[in-house]
Amino acid sequence: MTDPLSPEGIREVCTARQGYVHSVETGGTVDGPGIRFVLFLNGCPLRCKYCHNPDTWQLKRGTLRHARDLLEEISGYKDFLIRAKGGVTISGGEPLMQPAFLETLFKGCKEMGLHTALDTSGHLHHLSPDSLFDQVDLVLLDIKAGNDATHRKVTGKPLQPTLDFAARMVRREKPMWIRFVLVPGLTDAEDHLREVAGIIAGIPNVQRVEILPFHQLAGYKYEQLKLKYELKDTPQAGAMDVVMAWRIFSEEGVYSANP
Ligand code: SF4
Repeated sequence: MTDPLSPEGIREVCTARQGYVHSVETGGTVDGPGIRFVLFLNGCPLRCKYCHNPDTWQLKRGTLRHARDLLEEISGYKDFLIRAKGGVTISGGEPLMQPAFLETLFKGCKEMGLHTALDTSGHLHHLSPDSLFDQVDLVLLDIKAGNDATHRKVTGKPLQPTLDFAARMVRREKPMWIRFVLVPGLTDAEDHLREVAGIIAGIPNVQRVEILPFHQLAGYKYEQLKLKYELKDTPQAGAMDVVMAWRIFSEEGVYSANP
């Protein structure tokens, strides 16, 4: 059987014309500038312990949809999105799991004159050609840990592909927003926060940084999917935890917005 995460495996299931979609949100305000049409694609190679959307993990759990139909749907919001200084964000799951489909969607959005954002961990970027990233105006990069051991603990996968992706986006001078999830007992140790900040400080084209506090919102999804939810007893991160994390980030030269 072909490895589903190999270039051959990806080509087997995803084409430029159709792909697996989890859901759409028409008034998103947190995934990029302005008001956004957010498209969530299925499929993700990571298994983040805090994932809020484990129902996106399996590619084929999604609905198979034509790019043409999705672009037609987006075109209905085009004028509104432009007036609202927003655009289209493609998230997941991990959108880079369906590179040909993703490129078609972004290309269609750019042809409509819409701002485009890619929400990714960067993990599968090696499967995507540069021509895909030419269609992306902003990268929302999730940095899940500051060292390989913690990254493997949080996601089950190595950190290096994310670092390589960040370097690739630096070479392409792509604007980036960074997001980091603060999880008590998992990612909030002071030394670890300094490592995360060190990675972010080394990326010159970061425009904004967000520290997202861990919330207990997704437990029921794991139950429904009969998956083990390892953070069941983990406390939520509070406002003071976020303030403390920002203090450490700022000591390392990382601020919420770059001037
Ligand atoms: S990368 Fe996103 S979708 Fe994938 S497991 Fe992590 S949080 Fe969930």
